[in-house]
Amino acid sequence: NQSELYTAEAKQTAIMQDKANVWHHLSQHSLHEKQDPLMIVKGEGSRVWDIHGKSYLDASSGGVWCVNVGYGRTSIAEAISKQLVQLNFFAGTAGTLPAAEFAEKLLEKMPGMGRVYYASSGSEANEKAFKIVRQIAHKKYGGKKHKILYRERDYHGSTIATLSATGQEERRGQYGPFAPGFVEFPHCCEYRSQFGEVENYGYLAAQELEKAILKEGPDTVGAVILEPITAGGGVITPPEGYWPEIQAICKKYNVLLHIDEVVCGLGRTGKWFGYQHYGIQPDIVTLAKGVASSYAAISCTVTTEAVFNEFLDNPSEREAYFRDISTFGGCTAGPAAALENLRILEDENLVENSREMGDYLLSILKEMQSTTPLIGDIRGQGLLVGIELVSDKASKEPVDESIAAKVAGICMQKGLIIGRTNRSFAKYNNTLCLCPVLTLTKQDVEFIAYTLIDAIKEAANG
Ligand code: PLP
Repeated sequence: NQSELYTAEAKQTAIMQDKANVWHHLSQHSLHEKQDPLMIVKGEGSRVWDIHGKSYLDASSGGVWCVNVGYGRTSIAEAISKQLVQLNFFAGTAGTLPAAEFAEKLLEKMPGMGRVYYASSGSEANEKAFKIVRQIAHKKYGGKKHKILYRERDYHGSTIATLSATGQEERRGQYGPFAPGFVEFPHCCEYRSQFGEVENYGYLAAQELEKAILKEGPDTVGAVILEPITAGGGVITPPEGYWPEIQAICKKYNVLLHIDEVVCGLGRTGKWFGYQHYGIQPDIVTLAKGVASSYAAISCTVTTEAVFNEFLDNPSEREAYFRDISTFGGCTAGPAAALENLRILEDENLVENSREMGDYLLSILKEMQSTTPLIGDIRGQGLLVGIELVSDKASKEPVDESIAAKVAGICMQKGLIIGRTNRSFAKYNNTLCLCPVLTLTKQDVEFIAYTLIDAIKEAANG
């Protein structure tokens, strides 16, 4: 019984320490005056426990979609511990054993990609990619081909440059002015089609990229950054025909294709990487959350050999190499954890399990859609699923933000943690998000689906 882990006094002390000293991520602290913050103290498999001993099935993989292989993996902890005793750190200017071995194993899963650059967060991985694009622009195009296009509803990180490349007003508001050279183009959410009901939505949505390139001038556009499936922006699965068209447009205008796999990478969507569903070949791929299932902080900016070769010695350039460093990119805990994480994903067939359990979850939810109020659209791939709530299914009028919050709150009471898009700035932004650990069982799927349906019904009935 986890409730016996802590005495009443120890619980009280911990909560007071937290309330008095910690500034929580993405949180309005005035709420803590009425309600103590959630304090999670233990995890095992797909479940976590709060400080009071209450257990939850965590369908958010740690709140931000990253504990892919589940909680309590002793073998990852042991791999980290063994490595840290041998060598905890040396700057990424040198090689280390786990970094070398993990890069080789990772690239085996990514045909066509050639190099791995290490850092410690998704935002950082994307920043590295932006610097690679910018430096190539200076090397080859007199600095002109420097613009980076990004898509409405995609999220690429919390730093000023990655926010400058983020298409979510709810994240950007009050943080401007933003970095120049980042240009937004429209989303590809078919449920919220900009073109009415059309047969070739995927093609039309992809054309928005071409329009943006032509508007800016193809000789000014260096790259486009895209999530393979928009995750935090509302789990937007790409429409039929979208990705091949995007790839063709990039080729036509010599624009590098940068795919942000920070959420989708490492099995989340039922393939090793999200882009592998669509038969495309990126130039740059960024990874973070699932790389070591968040047992250690590690991110990777993966490029093709062609991109890497742009930085080799060049007699006409004094500083041809990539002049970037990330201190914690040299920490060995990350690649040591990532190696064991990869072994687990393979040995336990978790990528296949993600696909199978994701299909099962989608099938239950879709079967219940017509008899459940508020469910406008259900989207997903593997264990990344979004349920968009509307107050009127015919007009697709979005629900008030408070309804989505209420559903999430009822789920918590019933022992289920879910995610949700967190503001109704954008009309298609009231989406409940399910992103559980990849070890999920059929019983877990059923618990998630039926608990969620009950919670939606309760919220709808006031
Ligand atoms: N890219 C995507 C698609 C993300 O969802 C996130 C984080 O949620 C990031 C980048 C940023 O990653 P981090 O929070 O590790 O900086």
